[in-house]
Amino acid sequence: MEKPVLIREDGLRRDGRRPDELRPIHIEVGVLKNADGSAIVEYGKTKVIAATYGPREIYPKHLVLPDRALIRCRYHMAPFSTSEHKSPAPSRREIELSKVIREALESVVFTELFPRTTIDIFIEVLQADGGTRTAGLTAASLALADAGIPMRDLVAGVAVGKIDGVLVLDIDEIEDEYGEADMPIGYAASIDEIVLLQLNGVLTPDEMKEAIKLAKKGAEQIYKLMKEALHRKYLRVLES
Ligand code: ADP
Repeated sequence: MEKPVLIREDGLRRDGRRPDELRPIHIEVGVLKNADGSAIVEYGKTKVIAATYGPREIYPKHLVLPDRALIRCRYHMAPFSTSEHKSPAPSRREIELSKVIREALESVVFTELFPRTTIDIFIEVLQADGGTRTAGLTAASLALADAGIPMRDLVAGVAVGKIDGVLVLDIDEIEDEYGEADMPIGYAASIDEIVLLQLNGVLTPDEMKEAIKLAKKGAEQIYKLMKEALHRKYLRVLES
């Protein structure tokens, strides 16, 4: 496919969004009966579900950490989640994303409260249209909160991209594919900490500063929606 126009003459994006506008976001917490915690997160057409178990006993035993909980994380794309059928076997990309999401969450979970246990996180991408690692991080952080795991803060994920020379918030698959840069971040808004930052492509130092500012602004909006979704879940529990 030839490179499409990403920024239209009126300054808006292909889907009509302003550069600093998120896709429509939908969040629901406590969506699975058999997991300790769960959440479903949609950024536009990207749809991700996360489930967590634990803290629980570790198998195999040799993985036990004497002073803290072991966090394990599996990011997986369902074979039906992409336009071209994806192999169900874990790809190098899925292994990398499982690791960066785990490391982001390790920096907020109070693992020292649960020595010798494991907390397992499963992220399943149901539909991919860009931003699956960031939506996955948001969903996993909510699933941990839903399971009652003590954390320093929630983490909201969002990616900033550079397309046709313009910095834009929350890029979709086409913008990612034909843009110049893609910078996913995970932001813990209350404690003002960036716990995940990756950069694919090239940004100048000034663009980088601007992109971080834009990402934080977007993550703060997502963070607000995350809190509202958690409130809704607890109201549901109180009413039942
Ligand atoms: P992210 O989903 O976090 O943005 P990438 O930048 O690696 O991660 O991928 C961008 C988008 O490209 C994905 O959201 C998805 O829509 C698409 N994509 C990634 N991997 C595959 C794959 N194996 N097959 C088809 N599409 C894919």
